[in-house]
Amino acid sequence: MDDLTVYPAARIHTMDQGRPTGQAVAVADGRIVSVGTIESMQPWLRRHPHDIDDRYRDKIILPGFIDPHTHLRLSGTYMALNYVGPIDSASPTGLRRGLPDRASVLNQLRSLAAEQPDPSEPVLAWGYDPASQDGHLDRDMLDAISDTVPLWVVAYAPHIIYCNSPMLAMIGVDDDTVGHGIGRYPDGRLNGWFVESEAAARATRPVAATVYASGFGRAAVDRMGAVAKAAGVTTTADLIWGIGGGFEEEWADHASAIADGTFPLRILMIPFEGALVRSYGADMLDYLASKRAEGDDRLDTHGIKYVNDGSYPSMTLVMNEPGYLDDDTAHTGEIPWDEVVERMLPFWRAGIQIHSHANGDRTIDMTLDALAELQRRHPRFDHRFTIEHYCLSNPAQAKRLAALGGLASVNIYFVHYRAQLHAEHGFGPDRSEATGRLGSLDRAGVTFALHSDYNLVVTPLAPLTAAWCAVNRIGADGETVLAPGERISVDRALQAITIDAAHVLNRDDRLGSIEVGKYADLTVLDDDPYAVDPAELHRIGVHDTVLGGRPQGS
Ligand SMILES: [Zn+2]
Repeated sequence: MDDLTVYPAARIHTMDQGRPTGQAVAVADGRIVSVGTIESMQPWLRRHPHDIDDRYRDKIILPGFIDPHTHLRLSGTYMALNYVGPIDSASPTGLRRGLPDRASVLNQLRSLAAEQPDPSEPVLAWGYDPASQDGHLDRDMLDAISDTVPLWVVAYAPHIIYCNSPMLAMIGVDDDTVGHGIGRYPDGRLNGWFVESEAAARATRPVAATVYASGFGRAAVDRMGAVAKAAGVTTTADLIWGIGGGFEEEWADHASAIADGTFPLRILMIPFEGALVRSYGADMLDYLASKRAEGDDRLDTHGIKYVNDGSYPSMTLVMNEPGYLDDDTAHTGEIPWDEVVERMLPFWRAGIQIHSHANGDRTIDMTLDALAELQRRHPRFDHRFTIEHYCLSNPAQAKRLAALGGLASVNIYFVHYRAQLHAEHGFGPDRSEATGRLGSLDRAGVTFALHSDYNLVVTPLAPLTAAWCAVNRIGADGETVLAPGERISVDRALQAITIDAAHVLNRDDRLGSIEVGKYADLTVLDDDPYAVDPAELHRIGVHDTVLGGRPQGS
C-alpha cells in the first residue's frame, strides 16, 4: 500500500447509514482506508507512513456527488452554436444572456440571418424553449424572418428542430415525404418540425459538418467536465451514447480527455438502444461485452437506454386522461410501444440493466407494464430497471414500481423551474404541481436518484440545487410550496445524489459513500447541508472535489 493521506475535516457525512459521521478520512491507492477520527484510525496510522493534509480542516466532506443522467458531450456541442434560450447559460466565451420570449428570439434570428456572410449557409441556433418563450416556432414564422437564408433551430431540450423553407429544401423533404416525427400543419403542408431522434437526425445531416466540426467532441467533454466538477460532481453517466457520431468516437473523446487529465470525473457510457441496434445489429451484445472488457474505473459501459416519450419542457410527453390543456403534442419514442418488450428482452435476458425514459404518466404505465411482462417472461432479481425522469406520476405507480423491484432516476429541478409554468401550459395544475413525486417513492420504499439531464432540459447541473428542490418544492414564484406531501428529508435528498445514485448505476459497491475500500471520491463543501437552513441548501459553496484520493483543485 502507498503512504496514507489523512484529510481531517470539520465534519464528514459518510452516507453510510451505520457510521454516518466522522472527522477524518484516510486514503491510499485511490481508495478509502479508514473514516472516523485521527484516534480511531490509529491501528492503520501506526502501521503505515502517513501525511496529515489539513487543507479541508474547516470544510465539510461528503461522498463525491453522482449525477446519474447527463449528456456532457452532446450538451457541450450545442453550447458552441448561437444561443436563443430563455435562461442565462454558461458557454466557452462566457455567460450568454437568456431571451425572454418568442419575439426576442425571432429578432435575434433576423439579425443572425442578416449578418450571415454566405446566405446559402444555414444559421444554426440552440436553446429555444417553447414553454417559456411563448410556444413553438414553425416554418411560416421562420420564413417571415428569412425565406432565403436556411434557418435551423434546435430546442434547448433538443427533441425538436425547427426549420424554414430553404432549410427544408437542404434537408431534402417536401410535402410528399413520409417519416416518423416530421411535422405538418393541419392542411398537410410540412410545418418545419423534426421531432425526436430519427427525424432530428435527418434534419441534422446537412449541417453536421458545422455542428460536428473536427475535434468538437473532445472540446465538449472538456468543457462540460469542468462545469460538472464545479458543481461537486465526481461521477456521471452519459445516457445517449451512440447518438452523437458513433460509439467508438464518443468513447475515444472521453478516453483521451481522461488520459490527458482534463476530465475530472468518472463516467459510465450507457448506450442508446436504437443506435446500438443500428450500428451493431446481431453483434450488439458482443460489442458491449468487448467495451466492458476495455472499461476501467474511470470510463466504463453500463446498461442500456430506451426513450419512450418526449420531453417535459417541450411538452411532448404522453399523459393519461384528461390529457393536455390545449393541443396534444405528445410524442412517443422511435420504438412502437407494442414492440418495447421484444426490444428489451435480449438485454434483459443478458442481465443488462435497463434505463427507460418515461416523462408522462401514461408512459410510466406502459413502462411498468413492460417491466411486469419482462418479469413474467424471464424472472430476474436485483435487475435495477430504472425509470428515467419519472416526471408526471401518481402514488399508485410508485407502489407498483416498488412491487416490481424497479428504481427511479428523477429530474426534480422541474418542480422549481417548470411546474408553475406548466400548470397553465400543457399539463394543467394537478399534474404540474405534483411533478417529481419523491415523497410517494419514499413512502413506497423505492430507491431513487436525482439527476440533471444537463443540459437537454432548461435547468442547471447542480446536485445541491436538486436536493434543495426535493426538500423544499418551492415553485418559480419563490414562495409557493408545490405538493408539500411530496417533499423529502435533507438526508434522503443527499442519499439521492450520492449512495442511491450509485445504486441506480449499479456502482454502490464501490461509489456513493465514504466507506473502507470504496474509491476515495469526495465533495468538499463550505457549509454543512445537515446544519444550514434547508431553504439555503442550494447556496452552499462547493470548495473542491477529490477523485480517487487526488484533490482536483478549486
Ligand atoms: Zn437524457
